[in-house]
Amino acid sequence: MLNIKNLHVKLEDEDKQILKGVDLTVPAGEVHAIMGPNGSGKSTLSYVLSGRDGYEVTEGEASLYDHDLLDMEPEERAAAGLFLAFQYPVEIPGVGNLTFLRTAVNAQRKARGEEELSSGEFLKVVREKAKALQIDAEMLKRPVNVGFSGGEKKRNEILQMAMLEPKMCILDETDSGLDVDAMRLVAEGVNALRSPERSFLVITHYQRLLNHIKPDVVHIMSNGRIIKTGGPELALEVEKNGYGDLLAEVG
Ligand code: ADP
Ligand code: MG
Ligand code: MG
Repeated sequence: MLNIKNLHVKLEDEDKQILKGVDLTVPAGEVHAIMGPNGSGKSTLSYVLSGRDGYEVTEGEASLYDHDLLDMEPEERAAAGLFLAFQYPVEIPGVGNLTFLRTAVNAQRKARGEEELSSGEFLKVVREKAKALQIDAEMLKRPVNVGFSGGEKKRNEILQMAMLEPKMCILDETDSGLDVDAMRLVAEGVNALRSPERSFLVITHYQRLLNHIKPDVVHIMSNGRIIKTGGPELALEVEKNGYGDLLAEVG
């Protein structure tokens, strides 16, 4: 599914190297978590994969199936099945949530050479998925994310994810984190979307999200590299002992 080899990334406008040789493979159907101290480059990795401006790849590769991600525009990456959620839930005043979702879904269908959904077809699908996520009709009509609580924003992003049916979902938890109820909702949404054809990369500062989304593999990132990879027990070890021992191990 996702294949990253020796990825080196620097800031475009500054001589600052952020990723210093990231290697990561996420097979189809698996959930991988990336943990690591603040400033280690976790968010940068997700931004570079989604094609955000401001970063320059100086070495290495990143592919989704047989697509060379680094060669594609952000919209092409999304059409190929990549979805980035969370760190900046965007507010879009004046644009109703339904309109936004329909535009996003149809843009993606168009890029894939599929027919657009009619208004009736779209409404049927969105109502079904919203109901499953406990999102009420009123929230669907409001402007995107404007005045939404933290939990509502998260639920809304899960709805976007459910509507776009991505192959590779990258979730980057905000530093501020979520309250326990919002976290449970997000986790339930993610767990409901798990399938043999879909993979997740869950980026988190804290172990607690991983109590609800059980990862197959946990990676620890520090100073622009993956320094350790293990099973779910690695996350528990970090929760118990912090990053100190792991960082000391690699020197
Ligand atoms: P994490 O998500 O692990 O906390 P980030 O990817 O946000 O780490 O940041 C990694 C490092 O790169 C930090 O030192 C951060 O200050 C720096 N950095 C990332 N993006 C920028 C930017 N646009 N401008 C300046 N510094 C940046
Ligand atoms: Mg950070
Ligand atoms: Mg971050």
